[in-house]
Amino acid sequence: MSKQPNITILGSGFAALTAIRTIRKHAPDAQLTVIAPKAEFTYLPSLIWIPTGLREGQQLTHPLNDFFTRNRIKFVAAHVTGLTDDARVVITDQQEHIANDALLIASGGRFLKKLPGIEHAVTLCEGIPAANTIRQKLQQLEHGNIAFGFGSNPAEPSAARGGPMFELLFGIDTWLTQQNKRAAINLTFFNPASLPGKRLGEKAAQNMLLHMKQRNINTHLGHKITAFTEHTVETEGGTIDADLILFMPGMTGPAWLNNTTLPQSAGGFIQADEFCRVTGFERTYVAGDAGSFPGPDWLPKQAHMADLQAKSAAINMLRELDNQAPVSTPQAELVCIIDDGKTGTLVFHNAKHAFILPPLRLFHWAKMWFEKQYIGQYR
Ligand SMILES: Cc1cc2nc3c(=O)[nH]c(=O)nc-3n(C[C@H](O)[C@H](O)[C@H](O)COP(=O)(O)OP(=O)(O)OC[C@H]3O[C@@H](n4cnc5c(N)ncnc54)[C@H](O)[C@@H]3O)c2cc1C
Repeated sequence: MSKQPNITILGSGFAALTAIRTIRKHAPDAQLTVIAPKAEFTYLPSLIWIPTGLREGQQLTHPLNDFFTRNRIKFVAAHVTGLTDDARVVITDQQEHIANDALLIASGGRFLKKLPGIEHAVTLCEGIPAANTIRQKLQQLEHGNIAFGFGSNPAEPSAARGGPMFELLFGIDTWLTQQNKRAAINLTFFNPASLPGKRLGEKAAQNMLLHMKQRNINTHLGHKITAFTEHTVETEGGTIDADLILFMPGMTGPAWLNNTTLPQSAGGFIQADEFCRVTGFERTYVAGDAGSFPGPDWLPKQAHMADLQAKSAAINMLRELDNQAPVSTPQAELVCIIDDGKTGTLVFHNAKHAFILPPLRLFHWAKMWFEKQYIGQYR
């Protein structure tokens, strides 16, 4: 392409911002447009610390105005609602139609909220307001029962977000103990699988159950969840009493996908190939939670993986605009620290290695340090 390409990026989360930095590095003069609801970045992994007061919402939300100015971004504050013209035009809820030479979709996923009575459960991953609700309810609870669980997407079992639920469970257990309330409050972990969190690795999943046993946390495993009521979780294996239900449903792709002709995976994500190209579409890429990518069955839906996909997508997109073949494939890599508010357990998985290290205070601090460094990139 002879003129400077006009590239549009959807979203302002992990994948979108990493893509912007990669594109700017390799194509300083490209025209970049970002479409997202707000010019801000939310550091989602630290939401787990809001309920127990280790973080406030405003510490995790960072304005992007300076970053966008520095990178000469045209920012459009809008929700994408669809695409036309083989993805060359983006439609938004602001009645604006935005044309592009190339498109990178990084607008994240969403949660399946189909179970009857799901409104009685609080879903931490929905963001800062949900985390604040959990905090408020925890502070009010003097005795009773809290139930913690996560589901998956039956059509795409990899679309589950279990790690943060383990962190919430262990973090709340630590906090209740510190508040001298733990003896009066029962904690129950429920999951349809008999070994939940298997994508972290068999050993790590076993380790999570061992931690629950050591912390006197009840488990209710291997029973399909059928419904929630105000004070119960209903499963095919019985009822769990709960004054507070904390539940992370399985994930699916963005709702606006249904207003496009983009290919969908079985679980409703945007289907990509190994180069993060949207299958069958020219100059159209996807990175992060919005996409379904080829890879091992433990391929994580994580910020780290979103960053790797965004780098590959940006590099391959610039090459395609220059009539060159794609070269960059993101390597599957799962890295996470399961934090309990005092210590952290490091879990690592790639094609060659899979290991878990014992809980250490060091990893709790490392997780906090990493958060600071990561958000700091956008100051
Ligand atoms: C509580 C919690 C803990 C987590 N812990 C970890 C962890 O320890 N380690 C880890 O690696 N990952 C963790 N994750 C997962 C990680 O946060 C996600 O995988 C990551 O955010 C995915 O990046 P993304 O860019 O695809 O989506 P997001 O970061 O969700 O960004 C999506 C962007 O798209 C925007 N958007 C949404 N809808 C539209 C629309 N219609 N039009 C335009 N823009 C739109 C959003 O505003 C946002 O800017 C955690 C997640 C949660 C919620």
